[in-house]
Amino acid sequence: MKKTSRIAFGLAVFGLALLALGMAAQQPQQAQQSQPAQPPQYQQQPEPITLEKIVDNIYQVKGGSGANCGVIIGEKEIMVIDAKMSEESAKQMLAAIGKISSVPIRVLVFTHSDGDHVNGITGFPADIKILAREEAKKDMEEAFKDERQRAYLPRIQAFASKSLECDLGGRTVQLLYFGPAHTNGDVVVYCPKEKVAFLGDLFFAGRDPLVHRHKKGSSFGLVSVLKNVLQLDAEIFLSGHADKANRADVEALIKSIEEKQAKIKAMITEGKSLDEIKKFYNVEDRPAAPGRPRFLSLAEVIYQELMEKE
Ligand SMILES: [Zn+2]
Repeated sequence: MKKTSRIAFGLAVFGLALLALGMAAQQPQQAQQSQPAQPPQYQQQPEPITLEKIVDNIYQVKGGSGANCGVIIGEKEIMVIDAKMSEESAKQMLAAIGKISSVPIRVLVFTHSDGDHVNGITGFPADIKILAREEAKKDMEEAFKDERQRAYLPRIQAFASKSLECDLGGRTVQLLYFGPAHTNGDVVVYCPKEKVAFLGDLFFAGRDPLVHRHKKGSSFGLVSVLKNVLQLDAEIFLSGHADKANRADVEALIKSIEEKQAKIKAMITEGKSLDEIKKFYNVEDRPAAPGRPRFLSLAEVIYQELMEKE
């Protein structure tokens, strides 16, 4: 096993080197071809991958393409939480982890099925053990079109239980399921001893949380799941798109969603239309990306849920 991961790691580094060489070789040509296009400093380049130490042996991965990821280092195995959005970023993340620990990376956990959390799957060694909720695996079976991505599907061990314990060697990690929230297959990764919980996209800061109705997510479910999360003896909460948060931050998010739910319920009772509710909340609908469902604002999600309840 150890040997295989080393070989895979070596291949990853080799691949990156090739990529760098390829890019270097292409640059002058690209510059010539795209004369009137944006100068290089305006081209969108992902930030470099960085590992932020949260507590001993637990890191948050920022930068690269896609959502923040997590790293939990045991004595025997390393668990990575989420896979970045591209193979390149996933490989850069694995290389960065290899610089801080020689323990083999054996387990990948998906907090849910969104592309910015799972599309980097092909950057992982072919023998990686992958864990996800069964609903999330189903989404990926539908979403993965690329043959190389599809090759990883049989490796995803889908679980349907409310909790699953992983022993990384001297470090216990619990994978917890509290029901539909951001999607219907969200996993909370909880380290009880270290009081750290990875929430995937169950937590957002400074903006409304996203609830994917097309993946059977629910704003009322989200409130219930976050209340369950606060029942855990956790102090530090990490997530896909926010900085490190504490219990008060989670409480504030619950409060803001509950207030919105109560206000929209009252507006519906007053006979207000969806358009009036959206106007009240200054909601501007963003068009959907080609072939993808439109991301609904929280106000619209709540409205639809309340209308279904009627
Ligand atoms: Zn997401």
